[in-house]
Formats: sequence, structure tokens, C-alpha cells
Amino acid sequence: MARRRKAPATRHIVSINDLSDNDIENVFKIAEAYLNEFPDPNFPYRIGRSTNIASDFILASLFYEPSTRTRLSFESAMLRLGGRVITSSDPNTSSAAKGETLADTVRVIGNYADVIVIRHNRDGAARLAAEYSTVPIINGGDGSHEHPTQTLCDIFTLKKRHNDLKGLNVAISGDLKGSRTIHSFVYALARFNANILLMPAKGMELPAHVDNRLRSEFRCLPVPRAKYETENASIDALYVTPDEPHQLSLMPNVDIAADVKINKIRKIHAMYVTRFQKERWADKAEDYPKINAKFLKGRRYAETSVLHPLPRVDELDAALDNDERAMYFEQAAYGVPIRMALLSLLLNLDKKDSLERFDGGFERPKYAIYDQANNIGIRCRNKNCIVHDEAEGQYARNKFFVVATARNDGSYLRCFYCETDIERFVVAHKKNKWYTKDTAALLSQNEHQLRELIIFADETAARDGGFHHFKRNTVNTRPGLRKALKSHS
Ligand SMILES: [Zn+2]
Repeated sequence: MARRRKAPATRHIVSINDLSDNDIENVFKIAEAYLNEFPDPNFPYRIGRSTNIASDFILASLFYEPSTRTRLSFESAMLRLGGRVITSSDPNTSSAAKGETLADTVRVIGNYADVIVIRHNRDGAARLAAEYSTVPIINGGDGSHEHPTQTLCDIFTLKKRHNDLKGLNVAISGDLKGSRTIHSFVYALARFNANILLMPAKGMELPAHVDNRLRSEFRCLPVPRAKYETENASIDALYVTPDEPHQLSLMPNVDIAADVKINKIRKIHAMYVTRFQKERWADKAEDYPKINAKFLKGRRYAETSVLHPLPRVDELDAALDNDERAMYFEQAAYGVPIRMALLSLLLNLDKKDSLERFDGGFERPKYAIYDQANNIGIRCRNKNCIVHDEAEGQYARNKFFVVATARNDGSYLRCFYCETDIERFVVAHKKNKWYTKDTAALLSQNEHQLRELIIFADETAARDGGFHHFKRNTVNTRPGLRKALKSHS
């Protein structure tokens, strides 16, 4: 029998963090070049002409959730490059309605197209699709998880207006919980050293796992509320980033770092407004913040650029449209050159600049992966995660990144698909039948050793699985535990 050939190295963009800082700068550089080369003569922020460098390529857009702008802007970008587009935008009449799974669909569509854009209502759907696809997958928005290409447009807009993101004070208002664009956006702001000011609607605060990552992974310092409350009552949370990567370690007292920075929050450079999702928050319309000329009165907002990913409902007053601080239509226009640039890099259209390709489509993750079949042990606790979809879930595994806590005295699990964190769980040893509540047991285990372990949601689940509590010298000491792990793996 002929052996199946190994899939060639490729690249997928599921999260903004799949792109390195250098990749993002490259996208911006190419987008800028396209704007200069193919501008609309009357509107310089808009692409007005086409080229044919992608004439050999086909883009498939696979939209399981209604979207007009994202889909059309991807399709416009591909057509402007001279490529062609095939589209499946009505999941109710497509193969999904007949029960075909994402895993199968992308393996089939990969025969028809060179790159696939996916929009899905489940968190982590794009990551699952990427696990099975041999052609690049671009996440066009998955549940409440991420929307990386929107973030590229947002950051590009900020750069065009303010030149540099470093030290920029960016306020974000509205739904910070359900808005996927915000989750990608805050990571990017942190990476480029902007300060983040959160103004959520009541009950729509940033999810704990996003906050957790901002602090632990992106060097953000949360400023204590008392430090800014008198002048900034509408700000619910404020993160500053150290000017230099090493600065954090030089400032043992976070309060000192915050004092250094808080003086700089006199001026808001950008206000990012998010849509009120009435399908999600039917009962909360009253409390939703509205951004209008009255809100933006006063010196601190005098030069604030106003961004919105659109469409808007009534959280952003149409009377602002002619205000020179309004940037949202330009921001929308940049969607085309930005997506042209990303496609160009993924398809290697310009030999000078391309994205590095990796086996499996992603750079090697910096965390070890715990990986068990989907009927063994703990499951993701985000109910909207793709792993809980009855049909799709069978293609997903119980897969988590093992992330050390900031003090390195324990660990938490981050869902491989939706990136939700789980902080409490118990770790069981397959062969020895013991379990421990000490999450540090996962630290310094390589992937081979992790295969010897099963993680359960709680002690009851571990006991039901036939495991007993780990006792060595009657005390659950860490050296004892480490030794026990070592001697059996
Ligand atoms: Zn998940």
C-alpha cells in the first residue's frame, strides 16, 4: 500500500499571538506598500485598484455564522490581488447542515482552495480546523475567542494616526467579555507597550483568563483602583506596561511602577468602542455606555481617535461621524490592504517577505501540552468551546497547555482550543493510581511524562476513576511528590 505523504509545512493564523512582532510589522509594511501602489485617487486610505499577483490562487471563505463585512473584506482583498474566491456563507443549506464536521470540511475544501477563512460561533473552532487542514487557516472570528485580522486593522489604524503604540493610552468601552475583537486587541496593545484603560459595561468585564494572561504573559501591571479613581471614575481597570522588558524585575513594588506611569494617563489617545450585542445581553441595554460628543468633551479627549470595529448599534453616536476624531470608517477601509498583506505573506506572493512555515502550521508552543483522548479526565470548562460540540467534539482531544503560575509554585491549564484557563484540578498517576491536588505536580514534566498522568476536575472524579490520594511520609511534600513522579515515568 502506498504510504500517505507527510503534509508540507504551512502556517495558520488563529490568534493574534500566532504572529510574531516581526510578522505584524511585515503585514503593516506590505499593507502600506499596497496603499501606496493601488490607492483610490480620492481616498488615500482606501484600495482603489487591483493587481494580478495572486492569479494562481483561490481563497475559500467558510462562514458558519452570518457576517458581511469580514467575509466581503477578505474576498475583496483576494480579488484585489487578482486571486479567485469560492464561498460558503449559508451554513443552513451547506454541508454543515447535513452534519459534516469542520475536520472533514477543511480536509475537503483544502483540495479546492489554497487558503481558508473560517468564521464560527464556537470558541476554538478555528484551532480545531487548523489541526486538520493542510492549507493555511485564517480565523475570521471564533465565538468569543479571537478575531486576529480585525486586530491587525485596529493596530494599523492606531499606528497610522499616532505613529507609535508605545506609551499610548487606549481606552476600551462596552462589552469586553463577549467581544472577541477585544481579546485579540488587548494582547496586541500589551505587546506593543500601550497602556490599557478598561471601561466595561456592567457585568461585561474582561474574562479572568484574558486578565490573567495580560499580567503573567504580557508584562502588564494592573494599577490599583485607588490610584486613579478620583480623576477617572469611569475606568474599571488600568494596565500599564513597562517601557523596557527588564524594567519589571527592577521594580519589586508594583505600586512604584504604577506611580511612575499614572501621571501619564492625563490624556486618552484612543477610545475603542465595542458593539452592544443584543442577541447576547438582551436585558442590559440600559446600562451600556454610549460614546457621543458629550462623553468626549474636555481636554483629555481633545485629540482622542475614536475606533469601532463596526457594525454599531447605538453605542456610538452617528453625530460623531464628521468629527475629525472619528477613525472608524478609515479603520474599516484598512481591512482590505491589511488582509491583502496577510494573504500575500501566507501565499508567498512576494518572494522577499513571507511567513516562516512550520510543521503543523504553528510555531512550537512555549508550554508543554497535556494531551489525552476526549473521554479521559478533565474537559474544558467553557461551555461554548468547540470540544463541547456534539459533532465537532469527537475530533478534538482533551488538550491543554500547562502554564506555570507567576510564582512558579503551581500550574494552571489553558485549553488548547479556546484558551480558557482552569486553575483548580487534581493530577493522577496512571500506573500508581494516586492523585494529588498539588498543581505543581505538572511542572517540569515533559510531554512524554505528561502522558503518564491524567488530570481530573476534582477529587470525586479522581476517586471515581479508581485513584487514591497521594500520601508519602503521611505529608504531601513537594520533594516527595517530585520523586514519586520521577521514579515512575
Ligand atoms: Zn476550550
